[in-house]
Amino acid sequence: MRKIFLAPILEVLAEGLVWLCINLERLPLPFLVSRTGYANPRVRRITGWVGYWAHTFRLTLPNIHKWMKTKGDLFPLVVQVQTINRCNASCSFCPYPYTVHLQEKRIMDDELYSKIVDECVSEPGLLDFVPMSKNEPLLDVNMEERIREFRAKAQPHQIVELVTNGSPLTPARAKRLMDAGLDMITVSVSASNEETYKKVMVGLSWKQVMNNLEALAQENLAGLNVYLRFIKEQGNHRELNAFRKRWRHFNHFNFNVNNRAGALRGYEMKVIRHGSFAERVKHTLGSHIYPACPYVFSSMHILENGNVTMCLNDWGDREVIGNVRTQSIREIYNSPRMKEVRELMVQGRYEEIEACKGCSFYHEWLKPLEAQENVQVAVPATR
Ligand code: SF4
Repeated sequence: MRKIFLAPILEVLAEGLVWLCINLERLPLPFLVSRTGYANPRVRRITGWVGYWAHTFRLTLPNIHKWMKTKGDLFPLVVQVQTINRCNASCSFCPYPYTVHLQEKRIMDDELYSKIVDECVSEPGLLDFVPMSKNEPLLDVNMEERIREFRAKAQPHQIVELVTNGSPLTPARAKRLMDAGLDMITVSVSASNEETYKKVMVGLSWKQVMNNLEALAQENLAGLNVYLRFIKEQGNHRELNAFRKRWRHFNHFNFNVNNRAGALRGYEMKVIRHGSFAERVKHTLGSHIYPACPYVFSSMHILENGNVTMCLNDWGDREVIGNVRTQSIREIYNSPRMKEVRELMVQGRYEEIEACKGCSFYHEWLKPLEAQENVQVAVPATR
C-alpha cells in the first residue's frame, strides 16, 4: 500500500532530477564562469565539477529520454572522428598498443572529412564535434585546417573540441589551433610527478609536456577552454590532489579507469573499488538518471576509413554498423541494428550485445545490483 502511494511521487522526483541535469548548463549560476575560455559563449560555463557534469548531462541525456518516449530517429549529440589511426604513447589505461597500433597507418582523406563535417553542421542537434578518437589527434599535421573547416561551416552553438596527450602541443601549435577556432582542449596528464607519469603515460616526456603546459598557461586563453584530465587507477590516484594544486589555472576533471568494453589488459589490477555502500549509491543514482547506457543514444565514432562502430568505447571494433562513405550519419544512426541495440539496452539485455557483455560500464553501472553481488562485480577483462 505504502509502495503504491510512494511510486508516483518517486516518479515525479526522478523526472525532476533528469530535467535538472539536462538544463543545469543553462541555469543562470553566477559561479559557472571558466578561468579559460571565459570570452567564448560556447564554452565559458564549462568549468569545475558542476560545469563538467552539466555539459556531460546535456550531451548524454536528451536522446535517451527522447528514445524512451518516442522510439523515434536520433542524431548523435557528439560525433568523434578518427582522422589518423596513430598515437605516440602506450598509456597504462589504454588498449592502443595491442589494438589500433597493429593496423597499418592511415589518414582520413579530405573528401570524406568534409562530407562528415557537412552532415554535422546541417544538424542543429549536434553539439560537440571532436576530430579525435583512439589516437593522438595532433599527429595529424592537417589538424588546424580540419578545425578551421568545421568552425567556418558550423552553427554558432556547435563546439569543436580535442583531447590530446599534450606532447605535440607546442606553443606554436597551440596558437595555430586557437587561430583556427578550437573551442576546447583536454590534455590527458594523469600524474603529478615524473616518476608516476613515466608509469602511466608510457613513452612520453614529462618535461616536454610540462613545458608545453607552462607555455599554454602564459597564453591569452580567453577563447579556449582548457581542461586537464586525470584517469584514476591504482598507480596514481593518491596524487590527484597534488595534481589539482599544481594546475590551478586550468580546469580539471577525473574519472576511474574503465576496461574499454573488455579490451584493456590487466583491468582488475588497475581499477579502484570504493566498497559496496558507495557502489550501491552510485548505481542507484546512476540508474535513475540513465535508464540505459548513453553511448549508443548520444555519440557516434567514425574511423579513418569511414567505418562506424556501434560504440566508441569498444576498442575491439566488434560491431561495424555502417560506413559514412556510402551512407549518411543519420541513416547509420537510425539503422535497424542501432534501433535493435537501443531496444535491447532499454530492456536490460546487455549480455546479448557482444561489445557490452564484457564492458565495465555495463557490469559496474547498468547491471542489476543483485546480479553484481552474485558474481562480486567480476568484470570480464582482456580479450
Ligand atoms: S555498455 Fe555497451 S554501449 Fe555502453 S559503453 Fe559499454 S560497450 Fe558501449
